[in-house]
Order: sequence, then C-alpha cells, then structure tokens
Amino acid sequence: MTAATPAPQDSDPACRVSEPVRVEALAIRGQAGSATVFFEPPPLLSCAMARTLADWLDRSVQPLARGHFERDLVALRVGGGLECRRRNRASAGPVSEHATGQALDIFAFKLGSGAEAVQVAVEKPQGLAQNRFLDAIRQSACGAFMTTLGPGSDAAHADHLHVDIQERRSPASRFCQ
Ligand SMILES: [Zn+2]
Repeated sequence: MTAATPAPQDSDPACRVSEPVRVEALAIRGQAGSATVFFEPPPLLSCAMARTLADWLDRSVQPLARGHFERDLVALRVGGGLECRRRNRASAGPVSEHATGQALDIFAFKLGSGAEAVQVAVEKPQGLAQNRFLDAIRQSACGAFMTTLGPGSDAAHADHLHVDIQERRSPASRFCQ
C-alpha cells in the first residue's frame, strides 16, 4: 500500500478521505506461506477500509478459493474506490460511500496463475462451482462489512459486489442483499 492524497478536484468537503492509501496489492496467507493479491486497477481507499479488506481476503476469500478451487486468490478486478459522487451516480441525494474511500466494487476474482488460472466474474459465474463460490463470498462479506450489495439487489449492482464499512444509522443493522 502506498499513501496517497486525493486529487485536487475532490475539494467537496463531503468527499474527504482520512488517511487515503492507494492499494496496489495486499499480503495474505497462502499455500506457500504468504500470497499477494493484486488490485486491478489499484483503488484509493481509506486506511480503515484497506484494513477490513485485507482481513476479509485473508480470513474468508482465500480459504474459500482454496476450498472451492484449490487455488490461491491472486487478484481482484475492482472499481469504485475513492470517487466524489452521489449514490448510484444520481445528481442529488446522499454522497456515496465511495466518496469517502469506505467502499469498493468488486467485478471479478482471479484465482491461480498460468494454465491453472480461473476467473470468476460476479456478473456471470460459469457453472455450479463458481456459483457456490460467489454465494459463500457474499455470505462472508455480510459478516465482514457494514453493507454488501450484489446482483439481485438492484439494477445498479447487477455486475459487481459492493462492500463498504460506512456506519449505518443503527450500528447493529448490517445491510446485506
Ligand atoms: Zn459501490
């Protein structure tokens, strides 16, 4: 992770990130002791979000990748790190969790490398194993993040998994769809 500062055009006070980090890769436990998960392209996240993400990848996603496919998690195709915008890209309304670096959109999981590589796209999982893997991923995300949204929750999330750590009005209520 490298420290970063938000682009100057993000001067809207609602869009300030505390301790922003550009996350190019995170280290997690792997088959050979340790593994590196790359982010394509590297998102700008709050430090707290990067930490939560690293924990979730290490404790849940990597074991699921090993369990379902006997492969290490090697990369995530992502979008929607820090970006000053309203929810669902509307022109008015509440500022999106993405504006504060507390959210990430995941489009695909890349497992294994070379001839063994498997890519699981959130929008179109191929076959039963990939469907089961994604179901388990979503379930684990619901425990790790405050909000988890994905295909089936609404049209804006048909092709990716949205996870964020933004506090909700009632701290006990996690939002999981
Ligand atoms: Zn999102």
